[in-house]
Amino acid sequence: MIGESWVTTTVDKLEEWGRNNSFWPLPFGTACCAIEFMSVVSSHYDMARFGYEVVRFSPRQSDVMIVAGTITDKMAPTLKRIYDQMPDPKWVVSMGACACSGGFYRAYHVMQGIDEIVPVDVYVPGCPPTPEGLMYGILQLKEKIKRDSKRRLKEKRAHGDDSGSAAA
Ligand code: SF4
Repeated sequence: MIGESWVTTTVDKLEEWGRNNSFWPLPFGTACCAIEFMSVVSSHYDMARFGYEVVRFSPRQSDVMIVAGTITDKMAPTLKRIYDQMPDPKWVVSMGACACSGGFYRAYHVMQGIDEIVPVDVYVPGCPPTPEGLMYGILQLKEKIKRDSKRRLKEKRAHGDDSGSAAA
């Protein structure tokens, strides 16, 4: 039994390590914030050192959606569909005032925050946020995933269920 627990704990940790060090971001860029995103993935900021440089424009190959820019009501169904097409587990980073809250667009046709339609894990404030701000946000996402993984492991142990993670 001790041997099994050790193996499943290690598999969980390995899984978490892999996830945390190889995000595949999908940029949903609609406005100026997307330009800031481009600078973050440029060589100057070197996202590769965290393992986050594999940007994908296909939802089926991505695990982190980065929403960068103003989202109008007309765009909302498309954003939601792309989010739904991403495989689990998946996360959302809301980049900039517009994506977080509508920004200065207090207008009937602009969403007042993308969390009206998708669950947001990290909010990056600013108009526009600095590249460093986005990097900090993504590193916060890494910490969040670590915390969630620890909590899941604790819950599993509390319920005496070690078998699921070995098969995962
Ligand atoms: S938050 Fe500012 S920089 Fe970003 S999309 Fe909105 S207006 Fe542009």
